[in-house]
Amino acid sequence: MDQGTATKGVAVVGAGYAGCAAAVTLAARGVPVTLLESGPVPGGRARRVKTRDLELDNGQHILSGAYSELQRLMRQVGVPQDAVLRCPLELRYAEGFAFRALWLPAPLGVLLGLLLARGLPAGERLGAARFMLAMRRCGFRLAADLSVSDLLRRHGQDGRIGHYLWRPLCVSALNTPPEGASAQLFLNVLRDTLAAGDEASDLLLPRTDLSRLFPEPACDYVRANGGEVRCGETVRDLEALRAQCARIILAVGPHQLKGLAPGLAPGYGYQPIYTCYLQYPKQVKLKFPMLGFAHGLVQWAFDRGALTGEKGCIACVISAEGDHQQMGQDELAQACHRELTEALGALPDPEWSQVIAERRATIACAPGLSRPSQTTPIPGVFLAGDYTDPDYPPTLEAAARSGIRAALLAMGG
Ligand SMILES: Cc1cc2nc3c(=O)[nH]c(=O)nc-3n(C[C@H](O)[C@H](O)[C@H](O)COP(=O)(O)OP(=O)(O)OC[C@H]3O[C@@H](n4cnc5c(N)ncnc54)[C@H](O)[C@@H]3O)c2cc1C
Repeated sequence: MDQGTATKGVAVVGAGYAGCAAAVTLAARGVPVTLLESGPVPGGRARRVKTRDLELDNGQHILSGAYSELQRLMRQVGVPQDAVLRCPLELRYAEGFAFRALWLPAPLGVLLGLLLARGLPAGERLGAARFMLAMRRCGFRLAADLSVSDLLRRHGQDGRIGHYLWRPLCVSALNTPPEGASAQLFLNVLRDTLAAGDEASDLLLPRTDLSRLFPEPACDYVRANGGEVRCGETVRDLEALRAQCARIILAVGPHQLKGLAPGLAPGYGYQPIYTCYLQYPKQVKLKFPMLGFAHGLVQWAFDRGALTGEKGCIACVISAEGDHQQMGQDELAQACHRELTEALGALPDPEWSQVIAERRATIACAPGLSRPSQTTPIPGVFLAGDYTDPDYPPTLEAAARSGIRAALLAMGG
């Protein structure tokens, strides 16, 4: 690292969404920044991967209209609006259940959506609207945290509405099975999505790969504003970096901190996310870009043809732990194909399949989960990353917010 630049500026280690958010925030304020990333492309746990001459994502991602900071940064670095497909929150299942939040002022859009949900008895629809109103009245705050499944049971939400709406929302947002997931974190998500106004509950489905969606434009922005980005460079010695640079943001995954600063590494449990890509003949499509499945391993299927133009490619997502972790890749791909066929009718055999297993996709969001402070006992060293956000589950938005905060801390703000 250039000595003159380094002593004045900030080094950011890790170019995932958190590190990129930190680097953009610094570069925008004229702070010299060096972004160091061990991988060949930026993006971290949300990146483009090359496999068998194919470019895929390491896992299908969804953004929400509530991701305000990430959306602001995306605009700042010039990501075009059509990089995501924006649609009202709509959960449609192959089995017939359908819920759609209406574009009306909060909380009307969601309440009416619940009352009009298809595939639910009237009593459950009414009960779900009452549950949302009760949570709104208590400001989406619990006196003491408990598991999502206990919360649902207490409020009579563990019938079909739990099966088709609350439990899948919990697994998607917290990547943790409801039995072991923090109800408070779940309510924070409901507060900011279903109960907030201004299209916060919208779904934003990426139409480009995850490195192009934000990290690569962010790196271009950093370079254009006088910073430096170096991919393929692993930082192994924090003290050596500190000797060159007075301020450092460690934006690596929590388990990756062990090698760099063992004293700072928090001990968390982790949850996996598996994405199984099935390439069918080009004419195969889903009725909707995103379709729910509630009776097997597959939780959501995404039509990559409708989203990214990869015609005939269906991405099946399985979040959180489960029996699928014991299966081989071919066995899992066959199971996904079988489940699609059972739900959608006969499909030709896939031309190829590819399973990408992210075994430490996120930390497990257990009740009472504590987060580390972003300031550390090591002078000039700050933490960023999805696991540090005190309010949000580990998501792209949590990563972006943490990066911005770390940048402001590093500037003494
Ligand atoms: C399969 C999958 C699906 C997901 N789905 C969603 C979703 O739908 N919506 C959502 O909001 N979130 C989703 N998430 C979570 C989201 O991807 C993460 O919360 C987010 O990407 C974390 O970003 P981060 O910057 O905090 O960490 P990371 O992305 O882990 O970034 C850390 C970076 O540091 C680099 N690094 C590590 N050590 C070093 C070192 N010594 N030197 C240099 N570089 C180093 C790593 O290579 C990495 O690029 C999903 C995650 C996965 C894995």
